[in-house]
Amino acid sequence: MEVSQWPKPLFVVIPWPGTSHIIPMVDVACLLAAHGAPVTVITTPASAQLVQGRVERAGQGSSAGIMVTAIPFPAAEAGLPDGCERLDHVPSADLVPRFFDAATLFGEAVAEHCRCLVAPRRPNAIVAGICNTWAHGVARELGAPCLIFHGFGAFALLCSEYLYTHRPQEAVASPDEPFDLPVLPPFECKFARRQLPVRFQPSRNVNDDIFREFRQFEMAVDGIVVNSFEELEHDSAARLAAATGKAVFAVGPVSLCGAPGFLDSRADSDDARRCMAWLDAKKAKSVLYVSFGSTGRMPPAQLMQLGLALVSCPWPVLWVIKGADSLPGEVNEWLQHSTDADGLPGSQCLAVRGWAPQVPILEHQAVGGFLTHCGWGSTLESVAAGVPMATWPFFAEQFLNEKLIVDVLGVGVPVGVTKPTKSLLNGVGDEAEEEVGAEQVKRALNKLMDGGADGEDRRSKSQELKAKAKAALENGGSSYMNLEELIHFAA
Ligand code: UDP
Repeated sequence: MEVSQWPKPLFVVIPWPGTSHIIPMVDVACLLAAHGAPVTVITTPASAQLVQGRVERAGQGSSAGIMVTAIPFPAAEAGLPDGCERLDHVPSADLVPRFFDAATLFGEAVAEHCRCLVAPRRPNAIVAGICNTWAHGVARELGAPCLIFHGFGAFALLCSEYLYTHRPQEAVASPDEPFDLPVLPPFECKFARRQLPVRFQPSRNVNDDIFREFRQFEMAVDGIVVNSFEELEHDSAARLAAATGKAVFAVGPVSLCGAPGFLDSRADSDDARRCMAWLDAKKAKSVLYVSFGSTGRMPPAQLMQLGLALVSCPWPVLWVIKGADSLPGEVNEWLQHSTDADGLPGSQCLAVRGWAPQVPILEHQAVGGFLTHCGWGSTLESVAAGVPMATWPFFAEQFLNEKLIVDVLGVGVPVGVTKPTKSLLNGVGDEAEEEVGAEQVKRALNKLMDGGADGEDRRSKSQELKAKAKAALENGGSSYMNLEELIHFAA
């Protein structure tokens, strides 16, 4: 990567402690370092290995330009189990408020650490995850700009801005009544309130003060860093800049920060090796990959319906299941007998109960489609790999992302989910226990994997986006130039 040689500002990157926030924020750090800017990533001891491993993989074995600092996370002081240092470690919804208390104490310790840093390690700019609201005060003390990283794409952020300003969600009679979100004409965007991000829901497991603090933080920051590229979300990034009055830097897809092929974590774990070896034996574009992010768990009855659809698929299926340990015995038994693939007559479904190397999987030539929960990280990784999607949004901003994938970009088939799934934050009841039957899932997957002329159209649009994604990060591309601008902004 060609970069100019002037002395670059030092960025301090502080990811919000959640796996799916840490991953893209560390990738942002890697991109800044690849552009010659020194970076310090501040994290917690339990996440330091994840951060360091990613930094070294992106740097082909070296962490040149990036320093990783671990500050203790006061889990025990806040009444959390020892080692509970990421939101996805929190065992139950009633402990979520304690996690936010611990995150505030962690912020105080990080602030103190930053105040004591002297040149050349004194930050010239801070990039902070959405929940690290304290970062703005520290940045002001240090005279450094503070930028926010939400984890959302530009379209979802634009929708959120509209919801804050115009509040159409408050004028509906029920959580199911659709209303317009006219942010990206000529596309028609209609949503029900229950499909919105948690902060716009009337009922949730997090108190209003926390969301008020998030809003004050995002209004106070100097700029917004987005994992996206300008060619992807139509004019969303520019519209977001106009709507917020802030500098918006679309610098993605950040998953492409590694040298080609180097993020292939074949050697990382037995599960990773098993996935990659299984894919190696499959025909090009023949495999359906199924995964719902770092935390997505379906109610057991819904998982059974999905499972029945997957084991009857005519294509090989690679299915990543989170939380299998807490499934009822009979569901687990069924999974054991019906999946686990190779050798089992009639089933071509490999189930991975744990962590799968998603980026290398999506980039594998055998993968032809992705059934996703529409988390923004997964969405962008699929776009960057040129893989069309079937969409099954769970919660957060995922219904907004589904709209973008299906109707704006034309690279997805909706499964037809209308209600969110229960999560640690959203306080949804058991009404979402089983919304979609096996036959409905199969219809969507058939369209995704085959789909005739429409399927061809989705596949070719996906390939066009893949080429644009790669070009955005190359020298002179939009994300490349936005990274340079971000560095100038901080200087
Ligand atoms: N991921 C992974 N392996 C898994 C599950 C998730 O590598 O088994 C990664 C995935 O590649 C993505 C992130 O975890 O980078 C999930 O982020 P996303 O925004 O899609 O969803 P969230 O976890 O926030 O719901």
